[in-house]
Amino acid sequence: VKGNGRNNFRFFETSMNAATLRTISIQQGLRAGMEHDQFFLHYQPKFDCSGASIVGAEALLRWRHPELGLISPAEFIPVAEKSGQILALGQWVLEQVCREMRAWQDAGRSVAPIAVNLSQIQLRSPGLVEDILATKRRHGIAPDLLMFEITESAAMENADETRKTVDRLKAAGFALAIDDFGTGYSSLSHLQEFGVQQMKVDRAFIRTLAEENPQARSIVTAIIRLAHALEMEVVAEGVETPEQLRLLQELQCDQTQGYLLGRPMSGDDFSRLLNPDVTA
Ligand code: C2E
Ligand code: CA
Ligand code: CA
Ligand code: CA
Repeated sequence: VKGNGRNNFRFFETSMNAATLRTISIQQGLRAGMEHDQFFLHYQPKFDCSGASIVGAEALLRWRHPELGLISPAEFIPVAEKSGQILALGQWVLEQVCREMRAWQDAGRSVAPIAVNLSQIQLRSPGLVEDILATKRRHGIAPDLLMFEITESAAMENADETRKTVDRLKAAGFALAIDDFGTGYSSLSHLQEFGVQQMKVDRAFIRTLAEENPQARSIVTAIIRLAHALEMEVVAEGVETPEQLRLLQELQCDQTQGYLLGRPMSGDDFSRLLNPDVTA
């Protein structure tokens, strides 16, 4: 270490600059990305707990950046939230989901409800509900074919405001889910007041779920009981092993999502999965 202090410092400085530069190029690239069709959606199926039938899917945003390649939404969504561009991006996601569903329906295929993730910035945007209603109307999409996922931390951080938006979305006929449950700090009274249909148990709890981990099992049991006591359906995210699926079935989980049964896939692949008899 001796004598290397200066070099270490320079290395640190350089790598910090690289990270900052990446953030800047992401931020500046977002607008061009929207203009040049660099964004697309993947759909990850949701299954009933037997794992036998598809009950819907979640739309997940993807960005193929011309220089940086495929960038994870976990990286670019926070940047877009900071710059406010998440509003345009979120509107694009909704538009694209409705457009694809319209095309599937026009082709005579059966469709299933698609869940769209809403950022906390969108939740606080006064025009959100009107934009959603106008978009689904423009594409002729029935409200029971769209649902929305709101993270637990976004919902609880601004509970009173969120509740008004949730009420209006519910009144319009949309189902809602509390996403990443267990990673935020829920007030049980807020949770009860929201009265949303689904609770998605965060992957962190499913990852440790195994026969020989009684503590993880107890936690998931408690979460499922809590959800059911609040008359919510429970969706387990990140189910990767047959053992996790079996334990979730034992614990009366309602739906599952994860690499075991279905990875995020193109809209075309999802539509084929739903319509196995359709050729072409
Ligand atoms: P999320 O809403 O919790 O989505 C679940 C994430 O877990 C997705 O990552 C999905 O691909 C991944 N996943 C699903 N099953 C498994 C599994 O079995 N194992 C593992 N290891 N991972 C699994 P993805 O697509 O990278 O998205 C990351 C996050 O980015 C999402 O987390 C969500 O918070 C955000 N995001 C994605 N699309 C949108 C969007 O359109 N709008 C907003 N606001 N956020 C989005
Ligand atoms: Ca989600
Ligand atoms: Ca989640
Ligand atoms: Ca998450």
